[in-house]
Amino acid sequence: MPANASTDATQSDTIAAKLAEVKARIEAACLLAGRAPEEVNLLAVSKTKPLEAVTSAFGSGQRHFGENYLQDALTKIDAAPEGAIWHFIGAIQSNKTRPIAENFDWVHTVSSAKVARRLHEQRPAHLPALNIFLQVNIDGDPNKSGTQPDQLPDLIKEVRQYERLALKGLMALPEQTHTLESQRKPFCALRQLQNTYLSEAKELSMGMSGDLEAAIMEGATWVRIGTDIFGARELKT
Ligand SMILES: *Cc1c(COP(=O)(O)O)cnc(C)c1O
Repeated sequence: MPANASTDATQSDTIAAKLAEVKARIEAACLLAGRAPEEVNLLAVSKTKPLEAVTSAFGSGQRHFGENYLQDALTKIDAAPEGAIWHFIGAIQSNKTRPIAENFDWVHTVSSAKVARRLHEQRPAHLPALNIFLQVNIDGDPNKSGTQPDQLPDLIKEVRQYERLALKGLMALPEQTHTLESQRKPFCALRQLQNTYLSEAKELSMGMSGDLEAAIMEGATWVRIGTDIFGARELKT
């Protein structure tokens, strides 16, 4: 149908333009931070967005996609172009680890030894080790997910035993704030934890649409961008 076709074209033009804008922001932040832009990977967060959004971004060269909701993700993973790389970035219920271990390449939100052990046991033998980040509750807010910083050393020790997991680094999802200075603080704290406890793993998953510059200044190697690529989401965040 012509109407749909033109809507699709408009949407993919928009996604292409927004991807280019985000990449320009990443480059500008890297320049400011004295870092090489190749050090920062862009994870396009397609949660709640339709398959067409993923396909459009893929057509513009984007390969890494982040999803939070398992059912929504599995439908897209099945139908998405070959070559898309999938990252699970949502809260993990321990009874849902198997489909995550079977269908994703990266998991950013491991925050307990129990979930880590299950992902290790359930990672299919024909696939490479599952790349994981340990999520840290960097704000210390008891209502937030992530391991408490003082429990991180024990969790790291535990996870290092699991050869079906490749421990890549730390991840945080701090409270959204609105000045560069206040945004940098929790990212800086995460980087220091990384240096102290996990110096062999170099990746830091931090920064979203509203604070990617602060995250890059503090050493992010993965920024997770949804809204500024795919537009605002309805309801769920
Ligand atoms: C939704 C989400 C993002 C993307 O947030 P935007 O503000 O839309 O860029 C990044 N990381 C996590 C863990 C998310 O849940």
